[in-house]
Amino acid sequence: MELIQQYQRLGLSEALFSRGEAVLAALEDRFKAIDQVAEANQLKVLLAMQEAKLGANHFAATTGYGYDDDGRERLEEIYAKVFHAEAALVRPQITCGTHALTVALSANLLPGDELLSPVGLPYDTLQEVIGIRPSPCSLAEYGVSYRQVDLLPDGGFDYEGIRAAINERTKLITIQRSKGYATRPSFTVRQIGELIDFCKSCKPGVKVMVDNCYGEFVDVIEPTDVGADMAVGSLIKNPGGGLAPIGGYICGTKECVDRCAYRLSAPGLGQEVGANLGLLPALFQGFFLAPTVTASALKGAVFASNLFEGLGFRCVPSAGEARSDIIQAVELRSAEGMEAFCSGIQSAAPVDSFATPVPGDMPGYDSQVIMAAGTFVQGSSIELSADGPIRPPYAVYFQGGLTWQHAKSGILLAAQRLLDKGLCTL
Ligand SMILES: *Cc1c(COP(=O)(O)O)cnc(C)c1O
Repeated sequence: MELIQQYQRLGLSEALFSRGEAVLAALEDRFKAIDQVAEANQLKVLLAMQEAKLGANHFAATTGYGYDDDGRERLEEIYAKVFHAEAALVRPQITCGTHALTVALSANLLPGDELLSPVGLPYDTLQEVIGIRPSPCSLAEYGVSYRQVDLLPDGGFDYEGIRAAINERTKLITIQRSKGYATRPSFTVRQIGELIDFCKSCKPGVKVMVDNCYGEFVDVIEPTDVGADMAVGSLIKNPGGGLAPIGGYICGTKECVDRCAYRLSAPGLGQEVGANLGLLPALFQGFFLAPTVTASALKGAVFASNLFEGLGFRCVPSAGEARSDIIQAVELRSAEGMEAFCSGIQSAAPVDSFATPVPGDMPGYDSQVIMAAGTFVQGSSIELSADGPIRPPYAVYFQGGLTWQHAKSGILLAAQRLLDKGLCTL
């Protein structure tokens, strides 16, 4: 069967398919650059596994306390090597990215300390963790105060404002690499490095945590290469490579990571406990695949911005812009547009392709959220998925794709639904 006929069976028109091919023809150099980053990161992961002498004996399951879990220790050693960090905490007991960030923050902030975000409002779920929106067990309840410096109107860092906000109580600085549900640009690792240098020049010894969600392996360096004391993320995003069924990581200085381990398990126990429950093969293999899976997702994001800008929608990042994470925001201008886009992504899924995404309430978010995800791992956003809060500018945040070919089909079908609804024209 011809390729176009297969696409037609998915519901794609020939005209849109041709438009897609035309868009792709102009992206050869971009895709080549993405593949070069993936190649460098693949070697980084491979060498880390070899240097850690990973062996088949490290895949064994442990249960109960999980004492002397050699496989778990190898996994953490490999993460630490890839992030050029002194230590790493990589656990299935870390339930999600928000949990990993919560552990990192609450382990390294004590009553009376202050947390500073020099990059504006943090990701939605962290607002309750910090206590920006009141919540039981927030850092605010434990006597940790919070200060924020917004970005300048042009998206740059407000260095004067940051200098003024750093005070004798400032203990930890949190920098979110990815835009999250905002339409600001995501920061490159180099930009983050400049900001870290500035903060540490204002207050030597201040600790810096980077929320690295969605940023892993997009560049050949990570925040821990430019002075971050901790880089934190979720294993059901980039570093899990689509295979990790759960988990989070914290890579950083031994001092910070030790405290995180004590917070996650218990003082005195730290990294010594935590059975792997048979998940290590997926965590190792997923990390091994993560550079190329991330590259597939990036190609999808670049293709989407080029296609949707051509259809008249504002995209962040824009079609020609460099990338620092795998997220592509597409401003659809209406709730109806968001629903059409998400229904297209859903219809391209290998799992639950027959479901229709509808807006609903989500724990940790203050607006209704719509999500399209037909994923093998529930909520996994390294798999092709789209989501966004139902509020102006009605942006859908599109990300993932375990394979580039799958990302492409989902993006084309999302565009098809918008065309079918008369929300754009070819
Ligand atoms: C996804 C994400 C989080 C939270 O991760 P969950 O796994 O959904 O809890 C935090 N920060 C950023 C920037 C994210 O993208």
